[in-house]
Amino acid sequence: RVVAAATSSPQEEALERALRPKQLDDYVGQTKAREQLEIFIGAAKKRNEALDHVLLFGPPGLGKTTLSHIIAAELGVNLRQTSGPVLEKPKDLAAILTNLEKNDVLFIDEIHRLSPVVEEILYPALEDYQIDIMIGEGPAARSIKLDLQPFTLVGATTRAGMLTNPLRDRFGIVARLEFYSDEELQRIVTRSAQLLNAAIAPEGALEIARRSRGTPRIANRLLRRVRDYAEVKGDGLISKLIADKALAMLDVDPRGFDLMDRKLLEAVVHRFDGGPVGLDNVAAAIGEESGTIEDVIEPYLIQQGFLQRTPRGRIATLAAYRHLGVTPPAKTSG
Ligand code: ADP
Repeated sequence: RVVAAATSSPQEEALERALRPKQLDDYVGQTKAREQLEIFIGAAKKRNEALDHVLLFGPPGLGKTTLSHIIAAELGVNLRQTSGPVLEKPKDLAAILTNLEKNDVLFIDEIHRLSPVVEEILYPALEDYQIDIMIGEGPAARSIKLDLQPFTLVGATTRAGMLTNPLRDRFGIVARLEFYSDEELQRIVTRSAQLLNAAIAPEGALEIARRSRGTPRIANRLLRRVRDYAEVKGDGLISKLIADKALAMLDVDPRGFDLMDRKLLEAVVHRFDGGPVGLDNVAAAIGEESGTIEDVIEPYLIQQGFLQRTPRGRIATLAAYRHLGVTPPAKTSG
């Protein structure tokens, strides 16, 4: 599945690392987040203090991990990377925290999946650079306080709404990452093609950009597949025509929707009369987890105006009917 932005093979991950911009200047788009960070990073450096804790949220593949690495690089400190589900026990997190050096960055991906007991020891760490750890068991157990070096937590999540309030309140800087414009993605594709030594025409890069669901990770992934196609079916140059043919073969339609996008829209339109339909019913109808639908599939369809999320459920808009070539019923919203 092309769009499964959350999962990938080791080879793809290695390539992804290679394509990752290393400095804020090379980080395309996200002007608002970038401007904020530039100022706060500059100030923290001037005072030789740890940067305030940063929460990055937005759909997968928009550059949260990339940005956390850039923050550490710009601050000139080490980055430690982990994720919510990996930190099973308080001692897993304690081991990482106690090894941080002054002003280091700790990146926790999927921070909404921290277990409550782990989250509990994070609070004093974030507030006072201290942790309470339990030594021993049963009646002999006692708690001791450990001082930590000042550090910056960068947390990433697909949905800020899934964080507990006390955790969310401890982030001084909150940045929401947005889907990228076609022009921004065209720049990313062009840069990646250069790094991959692939010949690409500006129109070829734009075609890939337009069909990447506003997401750099998907743009880079499609670029590699289109490059393969160009080498086998053409002379290697990624032209608009080659990009168009390759993307059609990959089941990415002219709007950039893939099979799962279309399956979802078709289910809402055909099986549920355009909605409103509850998330669980949609999930059952298309055989996909509701979490994946909410985090990965829906946000782009909503942003593009093909789907609406209402208190009564999901509704297909007129644009969705048009896209599927279906005549809308007399009174459809949208
Ligand atoms: P997330 O952590 O949000 O899932 P990543 O940071 O892993 O996303 O980004 C996925 C890929 O997309 C990276 O390998 C990187 O090459 C590319 N990318 C993301 N954001 C940008 C950007 N602003 N400019 C250039 N490339 C980007």
